[in-house]
Amino acid sequence: MDYYGIGFSNIRLPNDSQSYIYRYNARTNQFPEEVFLHEFLHTLERNSDEYGYEMPELHDYESYGYENEPVIGQRQWYRDYMNKDIRTSNGYVGLPEEIYTLKPAKSSNFETSYDVDVFKEPENLIEEIKQIIDKLISKIEERGEQS
Ligand SMILES: [Zn+2]
Repeated sequence: MDYYGIGFSNIRLPNDSQSYIYRYNARTNQFPEEVFLHEFLHTLERNSDEYGYEMPELHDYESYGYENEPVIGQRQWYRDYMNKDIRTSNGYVGLPEEIYTLKPAKSSNFETSYDVDVFKEPENLIEEIKQIIDKLISKIEERGEQS
């Protein structure tokens, strides 16, 4: 889940279209969206943790009595996790409701982001890449001046 501590989950698909990853098999790929949901929930889990909320770990479904079921995988666990509907002896637990309205807790999560000039359409890929590099260079220069 960690990407050098900058706070987002990363799903990487290989470039090779011959890879088995791109082949759908109804017997094995029963809930293929699960990987995206899973990684997204890790992001919310991390945000919740950084805001100091108590909640179960996303991987801990078995200790709360859930199973990885055929066809639907951990769908029931994810549903209850997102709705704070996991029953325990101390009441219901799961992601805090507010987390859906909060941005990441730490400003370091935004350090590598940059402002996009929304009205400027890059003319081509080279220009687009150049724009990104220029923004990064000016960020690095700004930081250099501050320290
Ligand atoms: Zn995971």
